Amino acid sequence: MAPQFTIPKTQKAAIVEKTDAPLKIVDNHPVKQPSELAPGECLVELDCSGVCHTDLHARNNDWPLPAKLPLIGGHEGVGRIVAIGEHTQSSPVKVGDRVGIKWLAYSCLDCEPCRKGLEQSCINGQYSGFTVDGTFSQYVVSWVTHVTPIPDNLSSAEAASILCAGITVYRAIKYSKAKIGDWIVLPGAGGGLGHLAVQYAAAMGLRVVAVDTGAEKKELVMKLGAEKWVDFRETKDLVKDIKEATDGFGAHAAVVTAANGAAYAQAIDYLRMGGTLMVVGLPARANLSADIFFTVVKSINIIGSYVGNRQDAREALDIASRGKVKCYYVTKPLSALSETYEGLAEGKIVGRVVLNMKE
Ligand code: NAD
Ligand code: ZN
Repeated sequence: MAPQFTIPKTQKAAIVEKTDAPLKIVDNHPVKQPSELAPGECLVELDCSGVCHTDLHARNNDWPLPAKLPLIGGHEGVGRIVAIGEHTQSSPVKVGDRVGIKWLAYSCLDCEPCRKGLEQSCINGQYSGFTVDGTFSQYVVSWVTHVTPIPDNLSSAEAASILCAGITVYRAIKYSKAKIGDWIVLPGAGGGLGHLAVQYAAAMGLRVVAVDTGAEKKELVMKLGAEKWVDFRETKDLVKDIKEATDGFGAHAAVVTAANGAAYAQAIDYLRMGGTLMVVGLPARANLSADIFFTVVKSINIIGSYVGNRQDAREALDIASRGKVKCYYVTKPLSALSETYEGLAEGKIVGRVVLNMKE
């Protein structure tokens, strides 16, 4: 028999009512009751949620696509399924399972992008903490086909940020064509996505040049497997420093995870012939400008990379569960969300902040 859970009528949640209004932490937000779940939906009682820079973009509504309002942000949640909608057919998960909530909450699995394995670009997609309410709450509604089973040997806090930051950089590195022994540049290396990218890259046998700023981030990324470090604030010539670090020829690939347009500016110049720029960081209102002449004569590849599909999620978690990649995080209560956003805006968060929903 499926375990029985007592589901409260109200919960704690962090709500953005209007873009310019302060974030509100309430303890009386309604919990969708099991009888109200549509077929295919599930209710997850959350243990915790990572805070991604994307949540700050959603909170500020600074992207070309608007977030829903009012909004509960968050898309790196882990918790237990406490109810599944009546008449749900062939669910791959059951009540009591521990699962993750990632950015892609739902895809139709039947449009052309879905059929081609690009479900994250589904034309009917729903996104946690953006088009549907996310994980900065004690309970979240999601879809049985898209929640991700969590390996038993990872704690919820350890698994949380693999569900966005981990999946995203794992997929970007996988599609960068970089091979064992190649140089990869990681601008944004000390942030949430970046510090996981250092570890996935090292686990894949790549040689990492980490680019970020400050002693604390430097210490972290060197400990996690970077070979070279360039401080973007201190360098006098970023391209020269990266070329010198990469045998004089430049890097085979770059995965940019900075939320800042400047981090893209010189990527074509420090890539070697045939190099690949993976476009991952999503600065507000920014254009990618690349010198056309050098993009052509250097045979440069420029590839946009958007989170990952259900398979990328399984693979990224599997690598973490085998101890190859560990999220570096501090845990805080939900009430620390506003100060975490300030820290992200100022570039002061080293690794990740994971919010404990049980506190
Ligand atoms: P973060 O704030 O934790 O990390 C960003 C890091 O970039 C910081 O350490 C900062 O110091 C560094 N940085 C800033 N300017 C830089 C520069 N000029 N050169 C090098 N480093 C620089 O943010 P995060 O949570 O890792 O997210 C990063 C970005 O990735 C955000 O824009 C987010 O929306 C985006 N994102 C994209 C995807 C995707 O699917 N493509 C998925 C998740 C997040
Ligand atoms: Zn994210």
